[in-house]
Amino acid sequence: MEYRRLGKSGLQVSVLSLGSWLTFGKQIGDGIAERLMDMAYEHGVNFFDNAEIYARGKSEIVMGDILKKRNWARSSYLVSSKVFFGYEDGKPNQTGLSRKHVIEGCHAALKRLQVDYLDLYYCHRPDKNTPIEETVRAMNTLIEQGKILYWGTSEWSAQEIMQAHMFAKELGMIGPTMEQPQYNMFHRQKVEVDFDHIYKTVGLGTTIWSPLASGVLTDKYLTKFPEGTRLSMEGLDWLKERSLTEERLEKVRKLNKIAKSVGTTLPKFALAWCLKNPNVSTVILGASKVEQIEENLQALEVLPLLTAEVLESVEAVLENKPQLPAF
Ligand code: NDP
Repeated sequence: MEYRRLGKSGLQVSVLSLGSWLTFGKQIGDGIAERLMDMAYEHGVNFFDNAEIYARGKSEIVMGDILKKRNWARSSYLVSSKVFFGYEDGKPNQTGLSRKHVIEGCHAALKRLQVDYLDLYYCHRPDKNTPIEETVRAMNTLIEQGKILYWGTSEWSAQEIMQAHMFAKELGMIGPTMEQPQYNMFHRQKVEVDFDHIYKTVGLGTTIWSPLASGVLTDKYLTKFPEGTRLSMEGLDWLKERSLTEERLEKVRKLNKIAKSVGTTLPKFALAWCLKNPNVSTVILGASKVEQIEENLQALEVLPLLTAEVLESVEAVLENKPQLPAF
């Protein structure tokens, strides 16, 4: 395993980490979740990602039970939660980024995860109805109370992140350390262009999500639509519609050939492609089966195969390289 510093912080995060969205407490049994965490930890993964909304708190309960059972040294892993969407009915103050929900959400996540503090705590989305200053103050309070160590954002714009930094600086408080954006071969703008300035100035770690575009960057959708996958899950039609387009499948077909031509599989290839970006601190893996995590944890081996020539052939297929604005 390799470790990268999270932005400009001193924290070291494994370049591959493990998340629990749609899997823990939902698609997979607790026994499988346990095996996924064991395999990841044994391979040097030190970051487990979670959120209050995942299976409405159940994902954190499952992860917390496993952490308790394993009793790994608390100093050997990082665990996160995210606040915004809530885990209850969605009554006023049960969602969003008000001081009340940020602080109550943290207390509830600590209980479910059975830990004394969260290493990383994210604002899961921007909250247009709460002043960013209020959220910065709430996060800073939690840091001072030792309930969280680092705070960050998820799917915030560059401008919103910089506003948070501006308030933090003005108030002598701690600004966001990391952002959790979607990043994969099909989704590149924020990570490759929008945040460019932030990496260089205040610094920004990125813990990127859906590196395989919810499993589309594999070969399993190329022939017939398989059952028992994320995109066949009830209630996820919106994700299927968004993720599995004919245009994408055409590209996946070609990418699969490139991956094969360099002697690897498309999932490993697509994960390594994300890691090739030095501004990516960690690629959060998702898996519904033990074989998947086994395969995905080998992605680092593929890095040397991503030569300039191979990367160019990928660009020729994707035709979506975002450009920095011209001077
Ligand atoms: P991916 O895009 O990698 O999708 C993971 C899914 O793809 C698996 O559950 C599995 O689904 C399939 N898959 C994974 N590996 C393989 C393989 N080798 N072969 C075939 N199929 C495979 O990541 P996620 O979308 O799960 O995102 C990762 C994590 O990021 C989440 O768990 C969560 O922690 C975080 N996240 C954060 C978000 C945010 O807003 N901040 C949003 C979304 C995710 P299946 O077998 O069911 O097809």
